[in-house]
Amino acid sequence: MIPFNKPHLTGKETHYIYDAVNTGKISGNGKYTKLCHDFFLKRFHFKHSLLTTSCTDGLEMASILINIKPGDEIIMPSYTFVSTANAFVLRGATIRFVDSRDDHPGMDEDKIEELINEKTKAIVPVHYAGIACNMDKIMFLSEKYNLFVIEDAAQAIDSYYLNKDGIKIPLGSIGHLGVFSFHETKNIISGEGGLLVVNDQQFKNRSEIIWEKGTNRSSFFRGEVDKYGWVDVGSSFLPSDIISAFLYAQLEELDQIQKRRIEIWNLYYKELSECCKANGIRLPMVPEYATNNAHMFYLVFDSSNLRSKVIEKLKEVGILSVFHYLSLHKSPFYIEKHDGRTLINSDRYTENLLRLPLYVDLQDQEVLQITHTVREILNG
Ligand SMILES: *Cc1c(COP(=O)(O)O)cnc(C)c1O
Repeated sequence: MIPFNKPHLTGKETHYIYDAVNTGKISGNGKYTKLCHDFFLKRFHFKHSLLTTSCTDGLEMASILINIKPGDEIIMPSYTFVSTANAFVLRGATIRFVDSRDDHPGMDEDKIEELINEKTKAIVPVHYAGIACNMDKIMFLSEKYNLFVIEDAAQAIDSYYLNKDGIKIPLGSIGHLGVFSFHETKNIISGEGGLLVVNDQQFKNRSEIIWEKGTNRSSFFRGEVDKYGWVDVGSSFLPSDIISAFLYAQLEELDQIQKRRIEIWNLYYKELSECCKANGIRLPMVPEYATNNAHMFYLVFDSSNLRSKVIEKLKEVGILSVFHYLSLHKSPFYIEKHDGRTLINSDRYTENLLRLPLYVDLQDQEVLQITHTVREILNG
């Protein structure tokens, strides 16, 4: 049986957890949380990062930080995970969903401007499959209309935007705020876990307060104030140091993990490109301004019947493939609240996109078995 995902362990996780337990302090913001924050600073130049218990929590912190209130409008793709929207809906925002691009499941950057009005507060680009949105276009709109940009980089660890000068900028560091996920289905994992990256320094102090239940506990521990108390709204967004210890072991192996994932992704591409092109099936597209962090390998069929047939046939030989999001504008919760526009590309990905197994411990030989079976189904 080849599962769709298998969490990869580096082997050091339990060692660091053991060490964290031995420090005698396993609540949040301990030794391993700091080691992780340092890692993000050194590796990606994230000036201010805060580990969170999930990416969902990171998004909720972002929503609090930009002071979302009822009636505010947020622009984001419909083809995304529910948390991207829910974090803002929780605080009363209305979501204006943007269609996906024709050539990529990410949001169509050219359809954002028409949705902007005086109620618009923020744009939330989602770097689908770890592939960058066109951030020049999005940051241009942000400046023109004075809007916040919160990057949902849940899938985008170690992925980059190549700017006009060809410089690699880590995703998550371009908008005012960025969020990552370390859920066990992502490239770097801690079971559940996430990260909020604060790029706009106006949010620095308040982000720590919101993180620590609305108290100025972090400044107190740095000796900046002589007692700590309730100074703002907030919640318990910080993970236990046991989670951070697990995460640190993963971060140390980031390069090896990424190298292997990219090898697998390239093997899929090589083995499937000819057959897919011959059959009118689309392979993942990586624009010239984006890098590929091999978060996902997917195919886009021209009908949902063919997709169902491929899922079934793969399952018969023990290979698990899965479809992805159901467009949020058509979800039972939001369909009545949606403004009624049809989003054809988003619906097309909902019906026709299929993800193939991709995890570090997947063997070349298993990839070949999968691609061989896919080719047989398509040609036969
Ligand atoms: C995984 C994911 C999330 C949620 O991450 P959690 O850590 O599970 O909360 C949000 N947005 C996108 C695009 C995701 O892929």
